[in-house]
Amino acid sequence: MHGQKRIMVTGGTGFLGSFLCERLLREGNDVLAVDNYYTGSRDNVLHLLDDPRFEILRHDITFPLYVEVDEIYNLACPASPVHYQVDPVQTVKTNVHGAINMLGLAKRTKAKIFQASTSEVYGDPAVHPQPEEYRGSVNPIGPRACYDEGKRCAETLFFDYHRQYGVEIRVARIFNTYGPRMQTNDGRVVSNFIVQALQNEPITIFGNGTQTRSFCYVDDLIEGFIRLMGAPNGVTGPINLGNPGEFTVRELAEMVIEMTGSKSSIVYKPLPVDDPTQRKPDISRAKQDLGWQPTVNLHEGLEKTIAYFEWKLSGGTRSMPGVRSPQPAYTHLPTPAVGIPVQEAASIGT
Ligand code: UDP
Repeated sequence: MHGQKRIMVTGGTGFLGSFLCERLLREGNDVLAVDNYYTGSRDNVLHLLDDPRFEILRHDITFPLYVEVDEIYNLACPASPVHYQVDPVQTVKTNVHGAINMLGLAKRTKAKIFQASTSEVYGDPAVHPQPEEYRGSVNPIGPRACYDEGKRCAETLFFDYHRQYGVEIRVARIFNTYGPRMQTNDGRVVSNFIVQALQNEPITIFGNGTQTRSFCYVDDLIEGFIRLMGAPNGVTGPINLGNPGEFTVRELAEMVIEMTGSKSSIVYKPLPVDDPTQRKPDISRAKQDLGWQPTVNLHEGLEKTIAYFEWKLSGGTRSMPGVRSPQPAYTHLPTPAVGIPVQEAASIGT
């Protein structure tokens, strides 16, 4: 899939968006990154700014947007629980109003549109590993619902626009992904543990650490995005993209401590409400339809991510090739952000 399309990436200056823009530019496309800088940052794409085929538009997708494009990747939404729970109403709006606006744009321009959905649509799953047919177990009124139900409604909208208006859609369900350019205060487990370990501060395990997650390295995920977007018409998804290697949170903590040579102790904190007890993708469909499977194992991916955070915590000059230091967008959140009760976190307001 090489060349010369006009491609819009919402959330284009975020963690995943910045890697996707980089990849799309490398393939010769014109790329428009759209972002309101809620969790994204220009610093993530500084190295792309000299490319005449790259453009950034500061825009919030909860408002309509009129541009001419051939393809849309809809990635815009804070993805870390501590960030998406700061302003849950805005999280729902980003997922629902944002999807309506972007689908409307796709309908008018006849663009193909990709939705970054999530393993959170499975909630706290009773089926393990999770195949796409599993309909999930989500608490519709809990603190994670703004994200989980927002993403579920976005999937509904994608399939209704597809059936009702013939919009060409691609829906990926993304499982936990990590890598360079995550913010130090991102709040998710991989970045939290690495930052804590490198600073010899206590590693914060929520609950008893027996809950499991499957961690996908960012490069593998981006390859999955490109393959899904390039798949023949009719391959709409939803399709799971994630690394089926499954680890307990405690195993992850031990691995990070060992790999960083850290003196950190482990402390146990209360498990957040509705925190899923297990998660692992069934990627049979991605293997069959896209010929895709992850190639970077957790140890290799952690090595690269640890190297990034070492560089970042040491002052983050421009010496690290390919990655730039993201400025934390939430200066009011501690670094790293650890289980902040919603009422303590400042509202961004709308
Ligand atoms: N977690 C933890 N310590 C942290 C951050 C997260 O033990 O400092 C746990 C969290 O409770 C969850 C898992 O790690 O069980 C993954 O959390 P994350 O926020 O990364 O992603 P989630 O899959 O829950 O959206």
